[in-house]
This record gives sequence, structure tokens and C-alpha cells, in this order.
Amino acid sequence: MTAGRRALVTGAGSGIGAACVDRLLSDGCRVAAVDLHAGDMADRAGELEAIHEVDVTDAAAVRAIDGIDEVDIVVQSAGVVGPNVPLLETPADEWERTLRVNVTGIFNVMQATVGGMVERGWGRVVNIASIAGKEGNPNLGAYSTSKGAVIAMTKSLAKELATTGVLVNSIAPAVIATPMNLATAPEVLDYMLSKIPMGRLGQPEEVAALVSWLSSEDCSFSTGACYDISGGRATY
Ligand code: NAD
Repeated sequence: MTAGRRALVTGAGSGIGAACVDRLLSDGCRVAAVDLHAGDMADRAGELEAIHEVDVTDAAAVRAIDGIDEVDIVVQSAGVVGPNVPLLETPADEWERTLRVNVTGIFNVMQATVGGMVERGWGRVVNIASIAGKEGNPNLGAYSTSKGAVIAMTKSLAKELATTGVLVNSIAPAVIATPMNLATAPEVLDYMLSKIPMGRLGQPEEVAALVSWLSSEDCSFSTGACYDISGGRATY
């Protein structure tokens, strides 16, 4: 049950974020979208509360989003895959960019939104991490590091807020069929697919269904968790 709640989805212009927008709209939420490229969402303007062309690494721009402190549900899907190289060959600028988007971006949006949730005594935060953050994918070192940080950051905030009515969880998908994987080297993709017992990619709508539950009142005794959605890949 989320009908009437105000939701903010980052990375809303593509892939998992776009599927979460669709799902939360069909759940009856009022949804505001954030993405680096608002153009991708122009045809959805009528359905959405607002479309914000914002880089989540820009803390001031995030804080300046109209109504940011009135949001009840935050789904953070903005992210980048980073360089496909051995860890020790990662260029410093690409290392920093990957961590800035995937970690600092999530921090910035939580810092701007969670205070209002705590004041009102209800909130749901769902951060999209990755199975890479639990297992460490080879040749995706910056990405894996960033997603491990998302899982830990989610746990820390969840424990701090455990009695406030604000629940903070992350999810750890394996490979999902989205545009993000267009940038992933074929051999890296084959490696990741070979690790999935179900033998197929996940679909963004399957991730959105989990996000929908984690955003709802039905989710009431879970916080600080990292939920698996990996076709059986995860072993812990
Ligand atoms: P995607 O590339 O299709 O979408 C990501 C969106 O984030 C894009 O619209 C992009 O413009 C936006 N974005 C990137 N940097 C941004 C920034 N600085 N500020 C605002 N928006 C920004 O990717 P996706 O596959 O939908 O991935 C969504 C999330 O799920 C990511 O965090 C990704 O790491 C995670 N994830 C994806 C997979 C997968 O296989 N697709 C698996 C595990 C986790």
C-alpha cells in the first residue's frame, strides 16, 4: 500500500529506474523523476509530478529540487557501470567518477530527503546496489567497490533510523536486461550470465516489483537488509 505517497526515483530515465517509475505510478504513488538526461522522459511529463534534470553528484542541485523534503519514498537507481578493466589498471579519474555517482550520489539524495521523512515519522528508502557489491566482479573493481559501499551505507543509516518509521534497504540484482549492459564488455557479461542458475537475465520489471514491496507499508519489519534478486546466483 503506497497509494498517494510521494515518491522520488533517481535514474528514472532508463532501465530499472524507468521500470520503478511505471510500477510506483501503477501502485498509485505521485512520482517525481530525477535523471542526468531529462530528455529521455519528456513523453512521460503528463504522468509525473515533476521531471528534474539533475546530476546526483551535485549536492547543491539535489538540495534545490522543489519539494525534496516532502518525499515519502526514495528509490535510487542512478548509477554507472564504470570501467571494465583489472582493478589495478583503473584510471584515477574513472575510479573517482564511479564512486562519486554510485556512492556520493546516493548519500546526497538521502541527506536531502530523509530528514523530512523522519519528521513525519514515515519513509522508505530503496538503494539499488548490485550482487557485484557482495561478490566483487573481476574487471569491474570500481563498480564492485561502489556497490559494496552502498550496501554498508544503507545498513548504517537503517540502524540509526530503526525506531523512526523510516526503513532503509538495498537490493542486489544480478544482470538485468537494461541499456547499462550495452557498455559492458561481452566477456564480462558472459561471465556474469554463467553465474546465474536460472540461466537468463533478469527483467527491470522484476526488480521494480521488489522495489514496490520495499516501498510499501507491507514492508514493516525489514530495515538495513540487502535483498537478493539474482536468479539464484547469490549464496549469501
Ligand atoms: P541504465 O544505464 O539503464 O540507467 C541508469 C540511469 O541513471 C540513466 O538514465 C542515467 O542517465 C542515470 N544517471 C547516471 N548517472 C547519473 C547522475 N550522476 N545523476 C543522475 N542520473 C544519473 O542502468 P540500469 O541498468 O537501469 O541500472 C540502474 C541501477 O541498477 C544502477 O545503480 C546499476 O548499478 C544497478 N544495477 C544494474 C544491473 C544491471 O545489470 N542492469 C545489475 C545490478 C545493479
